[in-house]
Amino acid sequence: NLSLKLDRAFKTLKGQGRITEVNVATTVKEIRRALIDADVNFKVAKEVTDTIKEKALGQQVLIAVSPGQLLTKIVSEELTELMGGTKSEIEIKGDPAVILISGLQGSGKTTFSGKLASMLKKQNRHVLLTACDIYRPAAIDQLKVLGEQIGVEVYAEPENKDALDIAKNAIKFAKANNKKIVIVDTAGRLAIDEEMMQEITALKNGLNPSETLFVVDSMTGQDAVNTAKTFNERLNFDGVVLTKLDGDTRGGAALSIKTVVNKPIKFISTGEKMEAIDIFHPDRMAQRILGMGDVVSLVEKAQQTFDEEEAKRLNKKIRKNQFDFNDFLSQLEQIKKMGNIKDLVGMLPGMGKALKGIDVDDDSFKPIEAIIKSMTLKERQNPDIINGNRRKRIAAGSGTSVQQVNNLLKQFNDMRKLMRTMNKMGGGKRGLANLN
Ligand code: GDP
Ligand code: MG
Repeated sequence: NLSLKLDRAFKTLKGQGRITEVNVATTVKEIRRALIDADVNFKVAKEVTDTIKEKALGQQVLIAVSPGQLLTKIVSEELTELMGGTKSEIEIKGDPAVILISGLQGSGKTTFSGKLASMLKKQNRHVLLTACDIYRPAAIDQLKVLGEQIGVEVYAEPENKDALDIAKNAIKFAKANNKKIVIVDTAGRLAIDEEMMQEITALKNGLNPSETLFVVDSMTGQDAVNTAKTFNERLNFDGVVLTKLDGDTRGGAALSIKTVVNKPIKFISTGEKMEAIDIFHPDRMAQRILGMGDVVSLVEKAQQTFDEEEAKRLNKKIRKNQFDFNDFLSQLEQIKKMGNIKDLVGMLPGMGKALKGIDVDDDSFKPIEAIIKSMTLKERQNPDIINGNRRKRIAAGSGTSVQQVNNLLKQFNDMRKLMRTMNKMGGGKRGLANLN
């Protein structure tokens, strides 16, 4: 299991403040092995990990984020970038626009043709499916069944043995019948063969499609990469469709194919049903390859909003037992910036521990803020002076009750006590970040 392996790899880094040559070497090796296990080809895996190493070295690790988490993020970003960064659209141009579907037999061309037609139809486009698999009569029927299912017309000439001729007739038919997009489903072979290559090349040259897609079965691992390479050399296709990602395939083929042929992956197919089609998102695939759920987005949020200097300043004050209501307020601000408080509260130094067990949500911060803001500067710095009269004034000023003010003061005192205890235990050396 890849995520377990990565976990192990990242363990080496736990508790270290900065990613260094020493602590990254083992980790990078583990990542490389994990990628190879996920079907990423060796050369690609090596290139990826070299880049990752370079990027990771010397990166300052935020106090709220462990080096392991930061490295996870770097790895994920790198993989995303390698797979094209962002999603890539298909080109629909011409009257009609022609989309040519290529690939080996069994890769999922016919199924995908149906799915694409269905997707485009939902965008209110007028689509015509064309059956150009002239070798298997069953192939025409298969497409016709799909067409009926999704309500898209299928053009076929069962007696005609010339694929290019059929496709050209389909285009004429489309023009006459107000169809704006013609999807051409073709015949594949079980393995690369010259006849197939000539046929698909002739179709491409003769039809001048605005989009030529290469369909490949992601379960075939390294073979997928080789097939993609051969097809691309002959066909110079525009994009890749990765099928059968619903199985236990790990998606590593996506990374290898993109790196080897340098063409974007545009769609993924995740099942036999007509709805099982998705636009390819490199960042999602990166996470699939890494098998790490949403660790990355959490880290990202923390990094975006957490002010490192502020964290250091607070940590220092905590260590010196000088943490006051102004600091409390500042931490509240930090937490609020991060969005989902429940998820993030544990990532912050100090606050994390102090607020654990207390039920926090966005609204629960409002009265707290109001109370602190109703305190004078002196009161915030030295809460011990807040006597009964001051409590009454603060409650009135903040629109809360004396009871609520009392509660906050008690919580705050408990928190300071906890901080003192932790300072004694940890010698104050690392601050509180590692206690999360
Ligand atoms: P073609 O020979 O390239 O036209 O491939 P087909 O479209 O006929 O698909 C071959 C087989 O794979 C069929 O049984 C499909 O139902 C199945 N298939 C196609 N795409 C997917 C997919 O994304 N997931 C799964 N599980 N099966 C698929
Ligand atoms: Mg087929």
